[in-house]
Amino acid sequence: MKRPIYLDHHATTPVDPRVLEAMLPWFSESFGNPASRNHAWGWEARDAVDKARRQTAALIGANPREIVFTSGATESNNLAIKGLGWHARHNRMVTCQTEHKAVLDPAEWLEEELGFEVERLHVDPDGTIALDELEEALQQPSEIVSLMAANNEIGTLHPLDEISRICRRHGAHLHVDAAQAAGRIPLDVKALDIDLLSISGHKLYGPKGVGALYVRAGLREKMEAQMHGGGHERGLRSGTLNVPGVVGLGAACEIAAAESDAEAERLSALRDRLLERLTAELDGVHVNGLLAPRLPNNLNVSFEGVDGETLLGKLDGVAVSSGSACTTADPQPSHVLRALGLSDKLAQASLRFGLGRSTTAEEIEQAADQVIAAVRRLRALSAVGSART
Ligand SMILES: *Cc1c(COP(=O)(O)O)cnc(C)c1O
Repeated sequence: MKRPIYLDHHATTPVDPRVLEAMLPWFSESFGNPASRNHAWGWEARDAVDKARRQTAALIGANPREIVFTSGATESNNLAIKGLGWHARHNRMVTCQTEHKAVLDPAEWLEEELGFEVERLHVDPDGTIALDELEEALQQPSEIVSLMAANNEIGTLHPLDEISRICRRHGAHLHVDAAQAAGRIPLDVKALDIDLLSISGHKLYGPKGVGALYVRAGLREKMEAQMHGGGHERGLRSGTLNVPGVVGLGAACEIAAAESDAEAERLSALRDRLLERLTAELDGVHVNGLLAPRLPNNLNVSFEGVDGETLLGKLDGVAVSSGSACTTADPQPSHVLRALGLSDKLAQASLRFGLGRSTTAEEIEQAADQVIAAVRRLRALSAVGSART
């Protein structure tokens, strides 16, 4: 069976062959525990982890001592939000309706377990927040602001420089979920004045099950670990490090730092070509989220007059995501598209395209052919259906 064209790079990315090659020796040849201080097996593993820490820090302009390795962005977000929430001076947090569940759920936990007040900012129909609403929300002293760098569904970018300035002015800590942005757009935690930032290995051509949290120097003393036992990662995240995973994350970060500018240019041209074909050859195509600035590899569109699930069923040659969260038997329209004000019907009739390193111009033409044909077929069928009734 021929596998469909993979245009779902927001869900996950393949491990880059160069990353895999860097990881392999650390499974069996050099299997030491970096916490073993008394022999060469431990020392070489510790050196490998140190190198990965420098590579990861370099991607985001951090100091290596500010990197905490975790199991992924979900854990990094939990550590940032709950870890800071635990010793909070102000039981108040500000986030946004379009954040990932890995931010919204820890925020809800603070609300339920620590009695926090959580304000979830609204977005405009193009997915952007109003900065004066953030300013307004921070009139009440708040401990944490958590706003993502780039949205995983609609690719919208939050203006982090202005957001951090507002947070600083009101004495709130800023956490940024950068799972989609890291390695795709430039990020500099010092220039942007960010306190905490989450990264995921498998979203940037590294392995699954590894990630990092950047913790600004001086802030870890105000945080509570979420995993206890052994005091690894200078007390903030106990547990023997996943050395092959950490090495892979480091290699992935180094490759992204070297190649992402050129890759962003290539992918945004392909993405623009895809959009151009869809809008030229179909009526009733809506782009979800502000078109620019946006992640270079993202396109999210709704198609009037089609049923999303049926459309996805017809698109067996293209691997994409739809605008409904299929986590339950009864698919719910995406909370992000709903926050933009889309009707449930239009939200469900949407597709998220996520282009990536392996995506070619030819694949984009083929994917466009298939989407256009499928939408036309479904619309023709529903016209016949409604003519009969
Ligand atoms: C994928 C993703 C996560 C979760 O990352 P994991 O490493 O899979 O836990 C969190 N936030 C965003 C924005 C994501 O895209």
